Amino acid sequence: MASVQIRGIQKYFGGTQVIRGVDIDIEDGQFAVLVGPSGCGKSTLLRMLAGLEQITEGEILINGKVVNNMQPKERDIAMVFQNYALYPHMTVYDNMAFSLLLAKIDKDDIKKRVDRASEILGLSQLLERFPRQLSGGQRQRVAMGRAIVRDPQVFLFDEPLSNLDAKLRVQMRAEIKELHQRLHTTSVYVTHDQIEAMTMADQIVVMHDGVVEQRGKPLDLYDHPDNLFVAGFIGSPA
Ligand code: ADP
Ligand code: MG
Repeated sequence: MASVQIRGIQKYFGGTQVIRGVDIDIEDGQFAVLVGPSGCGKSTLLRMLAGLEQITEGEILINGKVVNNMQPKERDIAMVFQNYALYPHMTVYDNMAFSLLLAKIDKDDIKKRVDRASEILGLSQLLERFPRQLSGGQRQRVAMGRAIVRDPQVFLFDEPLSNLDAKLRVQMRAEIKELHQRLHTTSVYVTHDQIEAMTMADQIVVMHDGVVEQRGKPLDLYDHPDNLFVAGFIGSPA
């Protein structure tokens, strides 16, 4: 587990400001959900957490340590993407093992980690398959497996369920929450789906046009929205 602090973050792409001074505190072990309409800056913020995008202004701290200038692989963070980003020509096993091979982890340790992740995710019987031979839900589990094998302190999820049908989405929400609890991680989960945010979050962060409109416990936001945007977005009258 790890705490995450986002302090005064701004981000420009060229001359365009897309993040306009964002502050977020995420406690050790918390499941935080960033929610907001498409284009409000959720993915950009997550990518800055992961170290995949430069920070223009401000600081990100993990466990009290500024990580602005740390490479992604030094950050003890793993990210699960929306489009799964699986390697089509590799088996399920190799998809999970690949980043560990690159990190020069020894083969026995890799096997242990992949076996543990597969057992947790119910993928043990599918290790020799290729992504095209899997269902959408199974592919999503492999994408999570690739994150789990890295044994990160912080999990980042960028709309991981948006390509799944409604029924599977509900099931996978529960699975992701179970995983979060079982692995004792801190999670930052991005979605544009209010129901997903309300049902999964310990803390909801409502974003709009590059700023945080409000953050807090789901029911507090629902009962006491700070403004019309939050009220409209979370679904209760202001
Ligand atoms: P969200 O994930 O909330 O839909 P994004 O973080 O993807 O939003 O995008 C926020 C804004 O930044 C959008 O206006 C988007 O067009 C812009 N943007 C994102 N990535 C880039 C980039 N690499 N170059 C220029 N503009 C970008
Ligand atoms: Mg996005």
